[in-house]
Amino acid sequence: MRVLKTKIMVTYGPGIVDPKVLRGVLRHADIVRFNMSHGDRAQWLAGIKAVRSIAKALGREISIMADLPGPKIRTGRMDADLKVSKGDIVTFVPSRSKKSADCVPVDYPLHNDAKKGCTIDIGDGQLAFHVTAINGDSVVARALSDGVIGSDKGVSLIGAHISASPPTAADVELARFAKSSDFDFIAMSFVKSASNLRELRARTGKINLIAKIEKSEAVANIGSIVREADGVMVARGDLAIEMNIIHIPELQKRIVEAAREAQKPVIVATQLLASMVDSPVPTRAEASDIASAVASSVDCLMLSDETAAGRYPEEAVKFLVEIANAAESQPSQPVQLDSKIKSINLGIAFATASLAERYSTDCIFIPTQTGTSAKIMAALRPNTRLISVAVSQKVARSLSLYRGLESVHIKRYDTTDRMLAFIRQIAKREGMHRYIVISSSPNKPGSLDTMRYIERG
Ligand code: PEP
Repeated sequence: MRVLKTKIMVTYGPGIVDPKVLRGVLRHADIVRFNMSHGDRAQWLAGIKAVRSIAKALGREISIMADLPGPKIRTGRMDADLKVSKGDIVTFVPSRSKKSADCVPVDYPLHNDAKKGCTIDIGDGQLAFHVTAINGDSVVARALSDGVIGSDKGVSLIGAHISASPPTAADVELARFAKSSDFDFIAMSFVKSASNLRELRARTGKINLIAKIEKSEAVANIGSIVREADGVMVARGDLAIEMNIIHIPELQKRIVEAAREAQKPVIVATQLLASMVDSPVPTRAEASDIASAVASSVDCLMLSDETAAGRYPEEAVKFLVEIANAAESQPSQPVQLDSKIKSINLGIAFATASLAERYSTDCIFIPTQTGTSAKIMAALRPNTRLISVAVSQKVARSLSLYRGLESVHIKRYDTTDRMLAFIRQIAKREGMHRYIVISSSPNKPGSLDTMRYIERG
């Protein structure tokens, strides 16, 4: 059996609430994202319950991610949509301003950050305005194309910096809710620096924190962000607005390389199969984009609207798996043993990966308590199959993000013999003849120090 190494994340939403559709999608998904810019706590809790129960029935470790809104600026409540034609002058004001009835309300004091000559972008690139003047709390701008402005549309400033940074007060509240509701990962939007991540951690306690890279400041600080975060997401939607769509390929490459260098998981997100929101088949360009991401050895590919609101969520996830599977048939280049090895445990991990490849063993099993040993092995990208055996289900689920790691959970584990017997059972069931078990000493997470080679007669 060949198992897909690249992990698949889907976004929860009306497109997959139907239990039959959700079940179809979860056959292939490893992680489900709840985008907290939409919906409410009752809807998210109902969604989690449905995901957990289907995952249990399918016998799959599927994790759940809370995606915090961050300081996303949106248009306020408008009684009716406003139609604009190219050249029209429109005034943007804070939602609480008295003038908001005649103008476009925005839930942020835009006048503090906007500058004459900068651009206001509405609805993720659908409509743009050139700022011509700032009068008190009013930002006056000329429409650069025809279009419609409605309530609750995303607003971005291009050519000026938004001073607000995450975490917002709402982010902290939502992160606490996510932690107490058994989410496995929390993603932070509009991160600018590693200190944003530290601030959230200081206010929530230990969390698995993913930094969404979608601001120019985050790209500039990518080295310190990848060191601080538990993983990063190339959030191509907002990144394209912030830094111009023409730079997306090179930015994606830079962010993926920085994460791989720091041995942290990396997710590529947004518009992987955008055409499948309305079409049952993808475009050639989409297939090619997915294959390139797989070839760069990313950990995870994420679907957004395709599953959250699309007409073909099951088809989209199946195509994603099939395209990634075809792309993976080219063996990946395992990380080379070089001067970067600064510890004996990393050396043992490299030696294990090389031996497994050299002698074509069927699998490397990694018993793990905190997940650290399994993450070290996954970061080396061996072509050999990797199965982590976690003692806690929470740890097993958190490993679902890492490329190439098949994550299983052992219900009872008190002795090494019991663990080895459990591994033998899996090996027998999967028809494996030669495999390696690599482990660390109890109470020393990640201190890989024991390698066993096992051959079945
Ligand atoms: C993005 O901007 O690409 C992204 C993933 O974030 P969101 O879905 O919250 O817009």
